[in-house]
Amino acid sequence: MSVPSILKNVFAESDLVHAEHGAELNFQNLGAKYAKYVAQAISDLKLNYPPARSFSDDELRKIVAVADVVGLDSRTRMKRFKSACSCCGWCCSKTHRIVVREEDADRISRKLKAKRADLFVFDGKDWLIKDVHPCRWWNPRNGRCAIYNDRPHTCRVWPMGINDAGENTIIPESHCNYAVMTLVYKAINILEAAGAGTQSQVPAEG
Ligand code: SF4
Ligand code: SF4
Repeated sequence: MSVPSILKNVFAESDLVHAEHGAELNFQNLGAKYAKYVAQAISDLKLNYPPARSFSDDELRKIVAVADVVGLDSRTRMKRFKSACSCCGWCCSKTHRIVVREEDADRISRKLKAKRADLFVFDGKDWLIKDVHPCRWWNPRNGRCAIYNDRPHTCRVWPMGINDAGENTIIPESHCNYAVMTLVYKAINILEAAGAGTQSQVPAEG
């Protein structure tokens, strides 16, 4: 993957090489799901940021993939982009595997006066909510969580998760507008810094 020259306005060469490598690994390791996430981000980037339309899709693919691996994600950044959540309910109703911390499983079971084994299951690696897709606590009539104030950490920070290196990262889920737009905003910030245009509506980074 060779990075478009405009990124050299923003990054030192060694940082770019590192970012390109990380971007390649994401495509290799995450496969079709990741390609779909990036494709959705490119589509939304062109829609929300007209200067992006002067780049080919292949160039944007590289720019977006690099934006995804450059800089650590954080709760502060996520809160800034919260309005991108479309409240579609996908994360509570379509996810097949919801990993929780063991302390969440204990805390929620205690709070609900239920046996942990009735609500959560350990699959040999992770603790999971039992009965998902949809989640047992998701109300399809109003899209609300029945245990919202006590929900697991995973749900509080979604769509942010932890990657294999133990770093905060946005979960690459094309169905989640919050996740896609966070990546789009990261790409816009880079393009703006590179001098691609001045028409961004992106919330300013603090
Ligand atoms: S616990 Fe609540 S927030 Fe978490 S997936 Fe279930 S319904 Fe959604
Ligand atoms: S966080 Fe994402 S998947 Fe969940 S409701 Fe918001 S946009 Fe939908």
